[in-house]
Amino acid sequence: MFALLALEKFAQTRENQITICKLFAEHQNHPLLKMEEYLKNEPVSRLWHAKQEGFCAQWALDNIFILESRPYSYETCETSQINAMLNHEDVSEYLKIGPDGLEARCDVSSFESVRCTFEVMDGCWYYEATVLTSGVMQIGLATKRSRFLNHEGYGIGDDASSVAYDGCRQLVWHNAKSLKHEHDNWQPGDVVGILLDIPNGEVIFSLNGTRLKEANSEFLSNRQPSEGVFAAASFMSFQQCRFNFGATRFKHNPGRAFRCFNDFGNLTTAQRTIVPRRLRLEQLEKEHIPDDYCTICFAAPATTALSPCNHDGFCSDCCNMMDHCPLCRGVIEERYSQINNNKFLETVKSPSNSSVSGLVRINSQRKSIRAASAIAASTGSQIQNGANREISRRHTQV
Ligand SMILES: [Zn+2]
Ligand SMILES: [Zn+2]
Repeated sequence: MFALLALEKFAQTRENQITICKLFAEHQNHPLLKMEEYLKNEPVSRLWHAKQEGFCAQWALDNIFILESRPYSYETCETSQINAMLNHEDVSEYLKIGPDGLEARCDVSSFESVRCTFEVMDGCWYYEATVLTSGVMQIGLATKRSRFLNHEGYGIGDDASSVAYDGCRQLVWHNAKSLKHEHDNWQPGDVVGILLDIPNGEVIFSLNGTRLKEANSEFLSNRQPSEGVFAAASFMSFQQCRFNFGATRFKHNPGRAFRCFNDFGNLTTAQRTIVPRRLRLEQLEKEHIPDDYCTICFAAPATTALSPCNHDGFCSDCCNMMDHCPLCRGVIEERYSQINNNKFLETVKSPSNSSVSGLVRINSQRKSIRAASAIAASTGSQIQNGANREISRRHTQV
């Protein structure tokens, strides 16, 4: 599997990609098609490895080493019974999401995050996540205000708007602080249960049906009543997890009456269709972006400037989401409209309209994907190395 991941990296240049595709085609049995078979037919003796290998082969066949004769996975994947899944429009740029929207994997050095499509406002809810790997993942809940700072090593549980269970380091994360818990380290195949009980103000994590003695109440007490809560998770390198929002039977019972996202969710065709990144990029490339649009999201006119540094070229939504200027890293004290040059006071940190932030994220992905290919083509992986340092710094603080 790591050989395949290495090939993925080599294939960042078009020339290498073509050469590798040709080499694959020379085999009588295409090696990736054979690996993809593991998804249906796992050798039981190495079940969790085989599931990872199958997932990686499928993702590579959909995104990088494309075969004319093979339909894309999203075209053949049955999702009609799935009403809540990982949101491919609300994810940091390098996370791999499977075609049914219920499995995710990270193969880069940044800390990749995702939220699900279903938003909870009130009541008691439960979902499960089966970990396929035993490394660092932070699985839990987040509002839209939680930001995915993947390159800086921040994810779910690292701000006041999210809470997460980490079964590798045996911690519960909230507001970038961690509390040691009493569970053993998680192992491949272990099931994390996440119970969100809004009326009682509690989030209760369990591992294989055994709940933590202490519930987290800070997350819900920090949340505004008007803010929706989403299932969410972050992944370090080579970590993978499968989510169950209720489309199949839960493995464990959280011990109180609950509802599941799948019974109440509703997905549009666009939401349930996980189009490979390459196709999505092609679709985005066809869109025309006016020259005076925001240089961060490309989704709205650049009408806003920052004070005191006076850097501009951003839309008001992006400005409201930033604490520091992306150009000079200076602290933002005020944002002002350049239309009438009126200064306006700082508003909420994140736009409440989720479709706006969804759009912002898609367009940020476009920029990031472009940036990533530009970096791959020229300087190698400077940004990644920087992110690595940040992440290792943060993780050694634990
Ligand atoms: Zn913007
Ligand atoms: Zn600046």
